[in-house]
This record gives sequence, C-alpha cells and structure tokens, in this order.
Amino acid sequence: MKRAQIEEMFARLQARDPEPKTELSYSSPFTLLVAVVLSAQATDAGVNRATPGLFAAADTPEKMTALGEAGIRDKIKTIGLFNTKAKNVFALSRILVETHGGDVPRDREALEALPGVGRKTANVVLNVAFGEPTIAVDTHIFRVSNRTGLAPAKTPDAVEAKLMKAVPAKYRLYAHHWLILHGRYTCQARKPLCPACIIQDLCGFKEKTKGVGDALAAIESLVPTAG
Ligand code: SF4
Repeated sequence: MKRAQIEEMFARLQARDPEPKTELSYSSPFTLLVAVVLSAQATDAGVNRATPGLFAAADTPEKMTALGEAGIRDKIKTIGLFNTKAKNVFALSRILVETHGGDVPRDREALEALPGVGRKTANVVLNVAFGEPTIAVDTHIFRVSNRTGLAPAKTPDAVEAKLMKAVPAKYRLYAHHWLILHGRYTCQARKPLCPACIIQDLCGFKEKTKGVGDALAAIESLVPTAG
C-alpha cells in the first residue's frame, strides 16, 4: 500500500471508531496482564467469562499469590491450557511481589521476563495499560497486514517491524485495536466481508469476496449450527 492509501485507511478506521478499546475485561494493569496471559489461544469472550470470579478472589499480585496455583486453576478451568496458565499467573504474581513491589513494570524487558509473557503480551500491556504506541501482532493483525498489503511479511515480528514504519505516528496508539477489530469482524479468516468493508478500495487483496451473496454467505458461516 502507498503512503497516501495507508493514511486514508487509518483515517477511515478512526472515523468509524475514534477511541477503540480492548474487548478483554480488566480494571488495572495487573488484571489486564493476567487477562492477556489467559487469552493465549482462547477467545476474549471465553476469558471474560472466567475472570470475574478470578478477580473477585484476587485482583492484585499479593492476593493472587495467596490464592495459590490450585486456587487459580480452579477459577480458570473453563479456559484452554488452564494448567500452564495457572502456573504462569501464579509465578508471575510472585515475581511482581518479590521484584517489582507489586506493580506491573512499564518496561518491555521486565515484562518479557515474566512467565507466560512474550513479545505480543508485553506489547498489549504497554499499549493498553500505559499508552505506549506499540503494535502487538496477533493472528488478526497478521492476516489483515498481509492481505491488504499494509505490512506484508512472513512472521509476526517482521509484520510488527513493518507496521511500526508504515503506520503514521498519529495513528500508532490505536492501530493495534483498529486492526484487530477489523480482522475480527470484517476481514475474517475464512470469508472476508469485502462488500461491506470500509477500506475495500484501498485493499490490495486479490481474492476479495464480491456482491451481496458472498457477504451473506460469509455472515452465515459465522452463525453456529445447531447440535
Ligand atoms: S477488502 Fe476484503 S480482504 Fe481487503 S481488508 Fe476489506 S475485508 Fe479484508
């Protein structure tokens, strides 16, 4: 995509949703960090169903440490990979208490040193909790960046590096959310809703879906079938 097209793309995404927010429920940097760790290979909706019970019992690293690994496991057992995630949430809470005075560090290296926290999670926490203009590349952003031609690359890290150059500075704070929401609800994996897409004329994807029939088929593919 050319510079002017990228400007136009983000201007439209901003006009549609001026202040996008994460769909994960959280009330502090710590509960955000835990929610993001729990969201690996799980949906935000699934995480949001489990976290009210978890955070009612423990919404600080101190309380999470006191709840213990078994207590955490019990609260999150509806989420995939809950054994490993309980281990990680317990261990990272203990490190926050012992090394960071119970605070979530505003520092990439310190965040990535926590169990269960990789580059993507650190980017989300830096962006959402601390307002840093980072862009965490998840499966939706990876797909949208490649399909549209915004930042085509073979790995999430390479897409991130290209996005950091391609996205104009004034749009970087919210770029993560705009691209995720666009991928989740419009530029979907199996059938993108191209006829309803607000950046269709800017997008370089060669296999765009066409017409009302394709759009309806795409919408129908999202409706769960009985049984
Ligand atoms: S036109 Fe289609 S492929 Fe391109 S961004 Fe929109 S939904 Fe995705």
